[in-house]
Amino acid sequence: MTGRGGRPLVLVIEDDLRYVRQLRGELAVGGFEAVFAGTGEQGLHEVAIETPDVVLLDLGLPDMEALRVFAQLGETCDAPVIAMSAREDDEGIAGALDAGVDDYLPKPFDLDQLLARLRAVLWRAPGAEVGAPPPFESDGLTVVFAEAEVTVGGRPVALSAAEFRMLRFLARNRDRVFRPAQLVEEVWGPEYAGDRHLARVYVRRVREKIEREPAAPRHLVTKAGIGYMLRKHG
Ligand code: CA
Repeated sequence: MTGRGGRPLVLVIEDDLRYVRQLRGELAVGGFEAVFAGTGEQGLHEVAIETPDVVLLDLGLPDMEALRVFAQLGETCDAPVIAMSAREDDEGIAGALDAGVDDYLPKPFDLDQLLARLRAVLWRAPGAEVGAPPPFESDGLTVVFAEAEVTVGGRPVALSAAEFRMLRFLARNRDRVFRPAQLVEEVWGPEYAGDRHLARVYVRRVREKIEREPAAPRHLVTKAGIGYMLRKHG
């Protein structure tokens, strides 16, 4: 970690002052150092001098197209990039995922979501310190990562190894939508990336085990036109 005082450094490229204020407070609470840039140009300048551990990139910047900023960030540093966008901005989110951002944070967000995203990308980043993540808990569904244990309403649910791997991956990346091909690649490995049907099959199986009404899922939801995500309630 390159952050001052041993804390990870987050570069926030965001022009909306409401989010700047929110992030300033929440990143401090979460134990992060932060630097802020209000334009793409300023962000590219900061990334060169600050060498952040992770970048939060707003997809709607006043001066430059965000995906151009993303491409140029990649030339300067290898910090993971989390795109931020309004929940309804499916096109922007899909475009950012296609461009290869590490994660995205739907706006508006809360402290839990912010910290979950940051931890997820920092774990995956090379050289990141790995700690046991806290269990995922949402509306009766609990995923205990370390013990590979899943409970629904307090009752243990038996999942196959692959089912658990997929659920664990989605729980670690809660509230983030994955295209079927991307989900398969992450869970089964790149050699399976073409077998997109695996995602559909396993999503159905896991739903039958964790959802009260598998046909109207509340946890493992489908985002039309994009893919699947595990929703965190409350
Ligand atoms: Ca904006």
